Amino acid sequence: METNLFIGGKYVAAAGGARFVDIEPATERELAQVADAGAEDVERAVAAAREAADHGPWPKMSAEARGRIIGRIADGIEKRARELGRLEARDVGKPVSECVNHDVARAARNLRFFANAAEAWTQEASYGDAKFLGTDLKLVSLTERAPLGVGAIIIPWNSPLMLGTWNLGPCLAAGNACIYKPSELAPLTAIALGEIANEAGLPPGVLNVLPGQGAAGAALVSHPGVDGIAFTGGVATGKRVMAAAAESLKRVTLELGGKSPNVVFADADLKRAAAGVARSIFRSQGQSCVAGSRLLVERNIADEFIAMVLGDMRRLKIGDPLNDDTEYGPLISAAHRDRVDSFVKEAVAGGAELLAGGAIPEHPRPGYYYLPTVLNRLRPDAPAVREEIFGPVLSVERFEDEEEAAAMANATRYGLAAYIWTRDLERALRVAARLRTGMVWVNSFFLRDLRTPFGGSGQSGVGRQGGRFSLEFWTEPKLVCLTYPEHEASR
Ligand code: NAD
Repeated sequence: METNLFIGGKYVAAAGGARFVDIEPATERELAQVADAGAEDVERAVAAAREAADHGPWPKMSAEARGRIIGRIADGIEKRARELGRLEARDVGKPVSECVNHDVARAARNLRFFANAAEAWTQEASYGDAKFLGTDLKLVSLTERAPLGVGAIIIPWNSPLMLGTWNLGPCLAAGNACIYKPSELAPLTAIALGEIANEAGLPPGVLNVLPGQGAAGAALVSHPGVDGIAFTGGVATGKRVMAAAAESLKRVTLELGGKSPNVVFADADLKRAAAGVARSIFRSQGQSCVAGSRLLVERNIADEFIAMVLGDMRRLKIGDPLNDDTEYGPLISAAHRDRVDSFVKEAVAGGAELLAGGAIPEHPRPGYYYLPTVLNRLRPDAPAVREEIFGPVLSVERFEDEEEAAAMANATRYGLAAYIWTRDLERALRVAARLRTGMVWVNSFFLRDLRTPFGGSGQSGVGRQGGRFSLEFWTEPKLVCLTYPEHEASR
């Protein structure tokens, strides 16, 4: 397969014909030769987006009219659900059932949700009094929300369709043009969106897709023609993005990594909690920003509970991502698998007990598979407890009481999500109030109401996405102040 860049409504080769090889994680073979965006392509994409934002019809259309087109993109995604789900499964290595039923379905829902949210969004007016040159005046202050202009959306490899549309939805619905840069490790569904957008009637230049390396992302961040940046990815890259954006004072939102705890109290519904913990860490092979990678369990039930999690883990069907019943596929790359393995090896060398996994399975082969792994009795300062592994590794810690549970949960530089498992609602609220995370789920894993704020505190990010939070990010508030009666000085 050979793919091209999508600029100004057309698929075009990269300047100089540069290409990179996209590897399929389940086969370790070449999946596609992907046009590799360089500096000249970034210039072309920004020029196309600028033209659409400054002179095209898109920002001038009503939110309803934009919403109809965005809705047709969602229809196009749904019409190709199976095809896109298979493409995502091949490119990322996630099970096809997860790709079709979750990621593709959410992609369509993200777009429709933000199209409707933008239409339903009422902008503010406030009324007040003032005196000007001795005359009493009434003030009517209108807070308009104008599109920012051109947005750059930079996305990691773990959920390209879901994360791409989660950002594209509000950016486009608010009237912006955008440049979408997917990860070099999984760019294919992003590239497919161009054709779907054309079929839906999106004006040329409103969506541009630039697959490329980190350098293409860096060029977008520092480009004077880009007004806002929505970055999703690792902490180290996020810091570079924020520093580069500061040079031109660009607005930035950062959705970064996590080390999210599952805090399990003895009074929880343990069966449900065990299934939730296993799902939170082993879904997508742990390659999820909200993965519940730390299990903090009340000491008196720890052994019983760990055995239940291991039971759920062992029932996972490991296999070819393209089989409908596969629940657990390969990791994204050989390099990533080595990185995951090095955390496990280091923990074991430091005295941790390996309860499961910690190895490459005999079957399936080939593919970058790594067994679901559980580490027990780690040193509290072990990197496997402190750092985001972004793989299928659960570390276990034990606590005595709420006080210790909250202190352990907060002993991390991250602050994305936390999961509390208890039947005691008052305890859930007490502990939730003490956790320094952007999101807390009680007795569930990562259920989403798209109106609510999504994002992290600490090193997990800056800003929030979802509902009005996203629409506010992608618009510039502008005050228009009217007065009456007409004041004396102007007669
Ligand atoms: P990454 O930071 O390596 O790359 C992310 C994107 O940034 C890629 O498209 C990459 O090409 C681009 N990039 C690289 N260098 C750049 C630079 N200097 N300037 C601009 N762009 C640059 O992350 P990754 O390995 O692709 O993804 C894994 C990380 O993403 C994990 O830390 C995970 O937690 C995080 N993530 C966060 C969320 C969230 O919503 N909080 C969601 C998914 C993944």
